[in-house]
Parts: sequence; C-alpha cells; structure tokens
Amino acid sequence: TVTRAFFTGQAGAGVYFFVGLFTATTYTLAGWAREQVCTYMCPWPRFQAAMTDEHSFVVAYRAWRGEPRGAKRKTESWEGRGDCIDCKACVQVCPTGIDIRDGAQLQCISCGLCIDACNEIMDRIDRPRRLIDWTTLAADAAASRNVKPVYRILRPRTLIYTALLLVVAAVMVVALALRATVEVTVLRDRSPQFVTLADGSIRNGYTVKILNKTREAAAYHIRFDGPQGATIALVDGRPTASAVAVRVEPDAVGTFSVYARIGRSTLTEALTAVTFSVLDAQGRVVVRRSSVFAGPQSP
Ligand code: SF4
Ligand code: SF4
Repeated sequence: TVTRAFFTGQAGAGVYFFVGLFTATTYTLAGWAREQVCTYMCPWPRFQAAMTDEHSFVVAYRAWRGEPRGAKRKTESWEGRGDCIDCKACVQVCPTGIDIRDGAQLQCISCGLCIDACNEIMDRIDRPRRLIDWTTLAADAAASRNVKPVYRILRPRTLIYTALLLVVAAVMVVALALRATVEVTVLRDRSPQFVTLADGSIRNGYTVKILNKTREAAAYHIRFDGPQGATIALVDGRPTASAVAVRVEPDAVGTFSVYARIGRSTLTEALTAVTFSVLDAQGRVVVRRSSVFAGPQSP
C-alpha cells in the first residue's frame, strides 16, 4: 500500500512532494498565521454572515446584563452595575483574538470557548451563568425587555437550507454507492508505431494501468476487442485468444505492458479503432477504454 511504500522509502516522488507540501502549509497556517487565517483567508465567516439572521443561534454577550462593566471588589455592591467584571477571560481564550462584548463579528468561529470561560468567572463571583451564551439576537433583545423570548426554528431560510443539505447529502450518498472501484488507462506505445512479425501479422505495444480501489487484491482479465483473430499477450507472457489474466494488489496501481496482434489481411486502414475491456473475476466488464491500432499505410 501507499502507507507502507511511504515509510520504506519506495513511494513515488509525487507522494513525498505532496506530503511535504501539506506538512509545510499546515505548519505555516496553523502554527504561524493562526487567527490571521480565520480573519483574512477563510471564506466561512462571509458565508456565515450572509446565512444568518436575527433568529439564528449565535454566541452573544448579554450586554443588558453585563453593562456597565468594570472591576469590582468583593466588598462592593452589585447595585447600579453589570455582571461583567472586565476580567477579559473571554478575550484571552478566544482563538481568533476578538472581544465578543463588542457584538457579533465576522471573525467569530462560534467555538463557544468564551462561554465556558465566562461561566467559570460567574461561578467564582457568585453571579448567574450565561452572561455569554448561545442565543438569538431576537431572543436576547426580548430578554433585555423582560419579555419571554420566542425562538423561530422553522423559517423559510432554515427550510431552504435543510432542503439543500438533504439534496447534497443524497448526491454524495449516490455518488459513493456508484463509485467505481476500478480505474483504467490505456497508452499506446509510440515508438515503434507498429512491428511487422515474421508471420506477417502486425503488433502494437500498449501500457495498461489498472487502479484497484478496493481493500483486497483483485484478479482481472484484460481483453482486446479488435478485428477478427486479434490477440493480446503480456510482454513477458504467451499469447492468448483475446485476453490476459492479471492481478492487482489492494489500493494499488497495476502497470502491464501488453502486445496486441492483428493479422495484416484484416487491417483495412492505417489506424484501426480497437477497445480494451477489463473484466472482473466474475467475467463482468468493469471498464472499457478505446484506443487505436497502427498498421502500414497500405495494408
Ligand atoms: S469573561 Fe465574562 S466577566 Fe470576564 S470580561 Fe468576559 S464577559 Fe466580562
Ligand atoms: S465563540 Fe469562540 S471565536 Fe467566537 S468570540 Fe467566543 S471564543 Fe471567540
């Protein structure tokens, strides 16, 4: 498998290149740029701002409860002041470095760390939790007026989003169910274009690559569908009637050099359309690939 090949130093240059690339970008973005990625590079906050309204759940600071804020001694009364003691614990834990007390902001990734930090502070100073909380702006405005908040979960916006999500999920499930477990490419050798054999028949060389995406080794037959009497053989094997048996390891690409052979008398053109079919162990054709067979200009 690729994993084993990677750790034994036998993987291709492309594998090492992409592992190096992803390691370097992850280190740079997550280790150095950090919240700058959320603020300036990530498109999600822009989507989020366009998708939410006053009835959407967001992380919000209850300003009507917290203000006026300010440091407080134990001996001081809570009369005439808010519950926020301006300890800035909510700012220190914020991974994007914002102050949620300034209101909803694009940089907020709704991680909720400021809620936990503030709840701890509220426990310590013996004030009710949820000064910062998951709520909707409409509910928070109602609570500030001492009116029972109304939560509107079912709205045109949420129904449309749900329908879109279901469509995307259905497409993904269907795509996964119909996912091909085999991929095949056929490349015709260009040099030489063809070889005339001693018996007069014409031979072309091809490279057939079979990608086995399953977790088990698989046996296939490569069948050459050409004119009457066409045969195929592995470069190191014996000719067969019209197909050769091959085996591909799990999660690997099998590369097979084959010779296809056609009697000269059956070739009517310099380039003849042919087809390679890959059959599974049950004899079902799993992939077909078209190619051409080159012969002399005037057969
Ligand atoms: S953690 Fe709570 S009390 Fe402390 S500054 Fe933030 S909102 Fe105010
Ligand atoms: S929810 Fe997370 S990102 Fe948003 S303000 Fe609070 S700590 Fe910061």
